[in-house]
Amino acid sequence: MSDLLERLRAGLPPETLITDADVTASYAHDMASFCEAGVPAVVVLPRTVEQVQHVMRTATALRVPVVPQGARTGLSGAANASDGCIVLSLVKMDRILEISPVDRIAVVEPGVVNATLSRAVNEHGLYYPPDPSSWEMCTIGGNIGTASGGLCCVKYGVTAEYVLGLEVVLADGRLLTTGRRTAKGVAGYDLTRLFVGSEGSLGIVVKAVLALRPQPPQQLVLAAEFPSATAACDAVCRIMERGHTPSLLELMDRTTVRAVNALSGMGLPETTEALLLCAFDTPDPAADLAAVGALCTAAGATEVVPADDAAESELLLQARRMSLTALETVKSATMIDDVCVPRSRLGAMLEGTAAIAERFDLTIGVCAHAGDGNTHPVVCFDHTDPDESRRARASFDEIMALGLELGGTITGEHGVGILKKEWLARELGETGMELQRNVKAAFDPLGLLNPGKLF
Ligand SMILES: Cc1cc2nc3c(=O)[nH]c(=O)nc-3n(C[C@H](O)[C@H](O)[C@H](O)COP(=O)(O)OP(=O)(O)OC[C@H]3O[C@@H](n4cnc5c(N)ncnc54)[C@H](O)[C@@H]3O)c2cc1C
Repeated sequence: MSDLLERLRAGLPPETLITDADVTASYAHDMASFCEAGVPAVVVLPRTVEQVQHVMRTATALRVPVVPQGARTGLSGAANASDGCIVLSLVKMDRILEISPVDRIAVVEPGVVNATLSRAVNEHGLYYPPDPSSWEMCTIGGNIGTASGGLCCVKYGVTAEYVLGLEVVLADGRLLTTGRRTAKGVAGYDLTRLFVGSEGSLGIVVKAVLALRPQPPQQLVLAAEFPSATAACDAVCRIMERGHTPSLLELMDRTTVRAVNALSGMGLPETTEALLLCAFDTPDPAADLAAVGALCTAAGATEVVPADDAAESELLLQARRMSLTALETVKSATMIDDVCVPRSRLGAMLEGTAAIAERFDLTIGVCAHAGDGNTHPVVCFDHTDPDESRRARASFDEIMALGLELGGTITGEHGVGILKKEWLARELGETGMELQRNVKAAFDPLGLLNPGKLF
């Protein structure tokens, strides 16, 4: 330990190092429940690429594990510390280095907060679409680490679609540049894409070139109430089948609506079984919403209410964004799932989830990026009750099994981390796992980067 600190201090200014055990303990885990977290030896908050390189060279020399962290809003334990590790928090590398309206790119350090970047590019008439509900807190480095999605993915896609190039410090301290800042480029294997979603297991992202879009018109939101989740999912299928491209298509079930009302006093309709939010950012959003409203009515919606203006639209989005936080208050503990199915199977997924809740006698609230088929069933339970905790764990697993059965994936956007690592092989198969391990070994032969995650 003293050797580690001595070597780190030799290349780092004092203010970048935290050794006080009370403070380092606060960096032990992200926001996932039920994922083990170790005790870090030290927390480093570098300001420069050279400082990150010094940390990695030291870690390699002494064979010390390194856990990269952004804002620790992750929901899979992927940023959790392991015993004796160096926590490498990138939050102080938070400069927006360039915004180019001509090239339609932004070049940023990894600690830039998602919403900060969004607002900065807006000033140039540009738009950075990936918008996780945690956007006011989470960092671009974390978004790249988890290949984050968000509310607008149904039209604009996820983080992976926007990362053009990276600078990455490798396990041994070398600096790798991947990708491009051009509109096109196919030179060699796509290492940029490989890093997106790699959960800090292949290298430390220290710079990112991100694609931007022209800022679309202000979106308008419609809220539709349904007597069942099945009817709401039917509406989702009709909307997509008719060729509409909403900028947002989200679902909140009754448990979620009640939880949001309890937390915020928003007064959303609690009699609905499923509330669908649909938005358009087209030149004539009112006309598009009218067409979609008719489809919702045909699918059985009991109420279809378009927002009057941007302010009302934003309020509805806030309700959706706070859904996970609100569901966390229903009982003393939650397990947040993240199963994504082909959207044609969304109805089956929600019906199956309700059946699982009934069979295990549990409250499972569901909010979903419905247009992506990405559901977040949140198992709410009393963690002091051993039997209820056991049932919660079992139901969580059954939800993943159901997702795979329906042709889906165990994680649409939150990642594998610790929470789902036992399930990865079930999705990828033996050959897939072998190649994944070979990739990991090529980048990190000593297994120092974020050990115990993914595999
Ligand atoms: C209320 C709430 C709502 C959420 N909503 C969404 C949502 O809508 N969509 C969604 O996708 N997620 C959502 N999340 C999950 C979470 O916010 C995202 O996964 C986010 O991308 C994590 O960013 P972070 O900065 O907190 O990263 P962290 O949690 O700190 O880290 C995430 C992963 O990235 C790695 N990492 C971080 N920085 C780097 C780096 N510079 N180099 C290499 N690896 C790095 C870490 O090791 C870890 O594996 C939500 C979370 C909360 C709490």
